[in-house]
Amino acid sequence: MSDNLEFDALVIGAGAGGLFTAALLAKRGYRTLLVERLGEVGGRASTRYKDGFAVNTGALGIEIGTETEEVFNEVGARLIVRQPSPGIVCRVSGKDINISAGLPGMANRVAIKLLRLALHVIPPLQPRTGESSHAWVTRFTNNPTVLGLLHNFIGSIFATTPHLLPADLFLHYLTTKGAFKQFGFPPGGTVTVWQELLTSYKRHGGEIWLNAQVQQLSFAADGTVNGATVNRDGIPRQLTTKLTVSDIGPQATLGLCGDANLPADYITTVKRQYQPSAIITIYFASTTPLASFPGFACFSSTRRLCYAANFTQTCPENSPPNWHVYCGASVPQPCTGDFNETNEIELLKADLLDEFPGFAQARILDVVVTRDEWPAQRAMAGADLPNETPIANLWNVGDGVKEWGSAATTACAETAILVAAKIERAYPWQVAQAALEPQQQEHAKAVSQPIPQSHAVDHTSSSPKEAL
Ligand SMILES: Cc1cc2nc3c(=O)[nH]c(=O)nc-3n(C[C@H](O)[C@H](O)[C@H](O)COP(=O)(O)OP(=O)(O)OC[C@H]3O[C@@H](n4cnc5c(N)ncnc54)[C@H](O)[C@@H]3O)c2cc1C
Repeated sequence: MSDNLEFDALVIGAGAGGLFTAALLAKRGYRTLLVERLGEVGGRASTRYKDGFAVNTGALGIEIGTETEEVFNEVGARLIVRQPSPGIVCRVSGKDINISAGLPGMANRVAIKLLRLALHVIPPLQPRTGESSHAWVTRFTNNPTVLGLLHNFIGSIFATTPHLLPADLFLHYLTTKGAFKQFGFPPGGTVTVWQELLTSYKRHGGEIWLNAQVQQLSFAADGTVNGATVNRDGIPRQLTTKLTVSDIGPQATLGLCGDANLPADYITTVKRQYQPSAIITIYFASTTPLASFPGFACFSSTRRLCYAANFTQTCPENSPPNWHVYCGASVPQPCTGDFNETNEIELLKADLLDEFPGFAQARILDVVVTRDEWPAQRAMAGADLPNETPIANLWNVGDGVKEWGSAATTACAETAILVAAKIERAYPWQVAQAALEPQQQEHAKAVSQPIPQSHAVDHTSSSPKEAL
């Protein structure tokens, strides 16, 4: 631990967005401090270990070939995930249809390409301003299977409903973004992804304080942030920083700034747009296999169950020997604001009983309700705030400031890339270093050397467990 409390950059929160940003800033030579209130990194994409089971607290699958991999490549960290094959199946009338291979796979790929083309050349196909995904799709079909799959796919990705998700955002996600076409499960649980990123961050000289909470930001006479009070080991510490990035969401960032330091209209906008959405996840385990799909299943006709995941076929180390671990997740109604937690959990359980014969005998490992301050997505897709704030040297990252049509941890990586680029333009590394002692400058140069390619992304499609 360093006694020097002067930093170029302070990053608040070691969730996906904070870690991606801190890793990029440290790699680019900024003397960076990452402060996390919990004892582990990953935030809502971390892992708890219980009786030999790795139970994720949020994100399960990590997308490959997107901004996530871009950051890992730049900072020389290894993205270690295993790709299930097939990745996603759709369960229709009790049958699991592999939408990534064979005829349905081809139809799926062709359909996306045709959709992209058709939207371009046939203007009436394009969504009208403000049209919801539900309204747009029902222009073409009212088929209950299609509508059920749409509902559950949108719930799985955006933790919202087709009635609330703008159609143009959904189409942008499908035709331009990763759309979970390629993903993998991290062996050992999702936290291992962030631990790899943390290792790279530290290798580049980044400092992290765990079990430490930023209590408030302090301001210079020109209105910029110049420091923070951090409670570490019960002791308040005052540090100085040239720039600050918050991963705790724009709403909570307001609280660290204090109303007097922000324009009133910005405060009103942040409060008005604050609509975190919820997901309920039930983790269960069995000594007999309960599913034959190796990755995710998306359901066409359920009360609440949107998707289920099978972890142990690709990552047997996530459970004790001979156990199979799954989860099923739902988006409650309503998906934001208050809902009846007990009823919603019962509805999800009823679906799991229908879809997983043997669920009644399974061991329930955890029922995780992510909502309110610890939500599925901190902003409803389409209602995200910009990553910039009215304060010149304060930015937000994470899933409260997603770009249009982005979702999940990929969206967090994208916010980090964008914010790191803005920081480089506004506070070039040389400017940030100007105030450092010559010895510290040498250190910064040393740690910002390129990393050999041998550290690059490492993902495999092998499934160590035999197909069921
Ligand atoms: C059930 C569920 C399933 C999901 N599935 C997937 C999936 O399969 N794939 C995927 O990519 N995404 C998935 N997601 C979404 C993904 O988990 C989130 O989008 C992502 O983790 C959000 O990260 P973040 O950086 O925005 O914020 P967070 O993870 O919330 O990180 C913020 C961090 O800041 C810390 N903090 C708060 N206040 C302070 C303070 N004052 N001082 C210091 N630290 C502070 C918090 O402890 C936290 O660690 C899922 C989410 C849920 C809930």
